[in-house]
Amino acid sequence: MADNNYDTIIIGGGAAGLYCAARLARWAYTGKRIMILESGPRVGRKLALTGSGRCNLTNTDIIPSKYNTDDPDKLVSCLFRYGSTETAAYYENVLGVVLEQKGSLVYPATYKSSTVVDALRFYLSENNIETELKERAAYIFRDNDTFDIETESGRTFHTKYVVIATGGITYPSTGSTGDAENLLEKLTGGSDFIPFKPALTSLSSDIPGIKALAGIRCRGEVRICDGNGDIRDKSEGEILFTKEGGISGICVMDVSDIAVKLIDAGDDNVKAIINLTGKSAGEIFQMIYIRRQMYANRTCEDALSGMLLRNITEFVMKSMDLKSDSITLRDLTDKQIAELSNLLCAFPIPVTGYGTLDKAQVSSGGFRLKKLNGNMQVSDIPGLYVIGEAVNCNGICGGYNLQWAWTSASLAAEGISQNV
Ligand SMILES: Cc1cc2nc3c(=O)[nH]c(=O)nc-3n(C[C@H](O)[C@H](O)[C@H](O)COP(=O)(O)OP(=O)(O)OC[C@H]3O[C@@H](n4cnc5c(N)ncnc54)[C@H](O)[C@@H]3O)c2cc1C
Repeated sequence: MADNNYDTIIIGGGAAGLYCAARLARWAYTGKRIMILESGPRVGRKLALTGSGRCNLTNTDIIPSKYNTDDPDKLVSCLFRYGSTETAAYYENVLGVVLEQKGSLVYPATYKSSTVVDALRFYLSENNIETELKERAAYIFRDNDTFDIETESGRTFHTKYVVIATGGITYPSTGSTGDAENLLEKLTGGSDFIPFKPALTSLSSDIPGIKALAGIRCRGEVRICDGNGDIRDKSEGEILFTKEGGISGICVMDVSDIAVKLIDAGDDNVKAIINLTGKSAGEIFQMIYIRRQMYANRTCEDALSGMLLRNITEFVMKSMDLKSDSITLRDLTDKQIAELSNLLCAFPIPVTGYGTLDKAQVSSGGFRLKKLNGNMQVSDIPGLYVIGEAVNCNGICGGYNLQWAWTSASLAAEGISQNV
């Protein structure tokens, strides 16, 4: 066999590509030649960053409705076939990674993502999976039943099966530079590719005073409203005000996908309605009302300091044209207390932008799931598979995105080894 002839070439040595190769290892034993083509100097660079370096590799509560995709029904069947229980069993029993749960979040017991990257690396090298580093696939040509892959450096590799596992467009420093679109366009015509956009990202706003809140965290709810005032998504958790002027935190990232899409579609009246208190407006009204009796002569900022951060009081009262450091609680009318309570529990922040690609954790968009068969093979191109973030399927924070990488990779490996 000539040097550059393979049975399977996986383009991209990220989470999905590495896992797909691992699941093909038994097939490799039958004499098949498998190779990972990776553009970077090492594999698993993004995987190493996941979960703040701890790798939240799956979730015991993977719910299909927590994903955005063009084919929710297919997603249900994919997750049913290779779900989080199967992933955990494979990591523990085959790759030798002991797992630990924190609530529904699953991590390696070492709480180090390098444990996961190493387990995959070791397993692949023991099972004769080859790796070519610093080789960026530039073109894929189809020639009857085989594919030729040409790299930027001018090398050509031939293969029967090709798996596109090049990831999305975010954190481009890890090698995810959106190459799937170009690689697939030449083979499929491009119409089945939904352009990548950042998802799981922060939201920015130019509302006056927001930068003064930088670093403040509060627990509450965030709802994304479109220009018609309709709620398009909501989530609950810790909201963090960013130094760039905006909001972030897991619950904000979880709803950012829809905000990004609305803004990019030209909606210039997108709002994030945030609850700054984690309580209801009725509860807050009562708390302020009682304080007005107890601390009538204190300024609002001082009187409310036991229940609200001063910056928050100042920010919200400023939006009512009231000065929190000079006006006393006694000066507030019942109507103003009601308005203040409502704003504290549903403050409308105009969303004018979103975190750049180097800040977003995943991409939305990718090759349509509908155009892949149940084993992630492009429907009308036998031998061509797409997995991981390169597929139009992205989830919320909490292990959902890596689980999609493991699920889609397992399905492709199953398809290739059974030739389906
Ligand atoms: C900071 C951060 C934290 C995250 N934390 C979590 C978490 O805790 N849990 C979770 O579920 N998800 C998390 N994610 C998301 C998760 O990392 C991704 O969804 C996942 O890595 C996608 O896997 P992938 O293999 O499809 O793509 P990637 O991991 O992006 O891998 C793609 C690979 O392809 C290579 N490549 C690209 N183009 C080419 C080419 N033309 N030729 C050859 N090679 C190429 C790249 O160099 C890269 O190695 C996080 C993401 C980020 C950025």
